[in-house]
Amino acid sequence: MSAPRHAPMDQFPVRDGELLVGSLPLSRLAARVGSGGPFYAYDRTLISARVARLRSALPRAVKLHYAVKANPMPALVCHVAGMVDGLDVASGGELRTALDTGMDPAAISFAGPGKSDGELQQAVAAGILVNVESFRELPLLAQAGDRLGLPARVAVRVNPDFELKSSGMKMGGGPRQFGVDAEKVPELLEEIRRRGLAFEGFHIYSGSQNLRAEAVCEAQAKAVDLALDLARTADLPIRTLNVGGGFGIPYFPGDAPLDLAPVGANLEGLLSRVKAAHADAEVVVELGRYLVGEAGIYVCRVVDRKVSRGLVHLVTDGGLHHHLAASGNFGQVIRKNYPVAIGNRLGEGEPREIASVVGPLCTPLDLLAERMELPVARPGDLVVIFQSGAYGLTASPRGFLSHPGPVEVLV
Ligand SMILES: *Cc1c(COP(=O)(O)O)cnc(C)c1O
Repeated sequence: MSAPRHAPMDQFPVRDGELLVGSLPLSRLAARVGSGGPFYAYDRTLISARVARLRSALPRAVKLHYAVKANPMPALVCHVAGMVDGLDVASGGELRTALDTGMDPAAISFAGPGKSDGELQQAVAAGILVNVESFRELPLLAQAGDRLGLPARVAVRVNPDFELKSSGMKMGGGPRQFGVDAEKVPELLEEIRRRGLAFEGFHIYSGSQNLRAEAVCEAQAKAVDLALDLARTADLPIRTLNVGGGFGIPYFPGDAPLDLAPVGANLEGLLSRVKAAHADAEVVVELGRYLVGEAGIYVCRVVDRKVSRGLVHLVTDGGLHHHLAASGNFGQVIRKNYPVAIGNRLGEGEPREIASVVGPLCTPLDLLAERMELPVARPGDLVVIFQSGAYGLTASPRGFLSHPGPVEVLV
């Protein structure tokens, strides 16, 4: 059997041996960016196409929300906001970004453990929905509501009693810092009622980066079961039910894209179950990575080409301080290579070799590709890391070693 390969990164066309991003040849885009250093480029056309594909695969009544933490670049969030039904934020800073887009505050929600008193007040003042993750938040929300003379809108983020199978990053099931354990939710709902908070529904999110449709379907079905159960017991109407997302994208050799068709069919059935019990309920799918991950690349330049004991090292001006995830240090257990290319040597006839791509930091962790087959590259060439539109710069320790930060552009 041959070694597993990366899925083809054919979302970006190639012309005359060069990658095209937003119809611009990469070298011209680098010149247009103008910083002379590494940059992230996000292609707005690809983001739009991805939203359109989701819309056609999912039932029309399902609401599509963007999880801002995947990529909070303001111009990108603005672009996405124009196409989705809502935005989900995880901090007061993200909330400001979301409000700046002009999105209706009624369609913005805020989840996250450890929301500060200030953030809770900010959320009530903005009129957004707070996904409550702790008993502690209730009196603070009630006080903020009284002070501002506004209703505090709440949903309950439930830590379910099941896990999302084969998820890249589990965020529900077992003991967690996220949400309120399912078995404690009845008591929480009682207190919400007692404090007169405006209850709107549930948020049940069990994990991220799932490439298996059956696992996504199962998690969403169990989320619906649990929510209907909790609402029945408490005799409360559901107006919004966020069943999470967790749709993955192919990063590593052997990864295949998620098949949306069964997910859409499954949601169709879930939607009618929810509507049968709660006619006014909206079902929300909340996605970050799936909306923007494949539309972004990280670009850095080869500074040096060193051969150490027979292995070529392409030393670049970019590294883990800009792109922690590609270095394998953002939640990977066994390090695997992201899809990487030499963006100005994509022609057929380029000689190839095995090389490692590294950054300028003084740590062996600063590795962008390990022993990968690549075209023979020289100083000045442009290294491209695909699948970098989500959890790239925002999830990186950019202060580490005091190098200049990268630029971000939306093209
Ligand atoms: C991070 C997060 C998401 C987005 O996850 P992706 O894998 O990027 O789609 C959705 N919902 C919540 C609550 C999150 O914390």
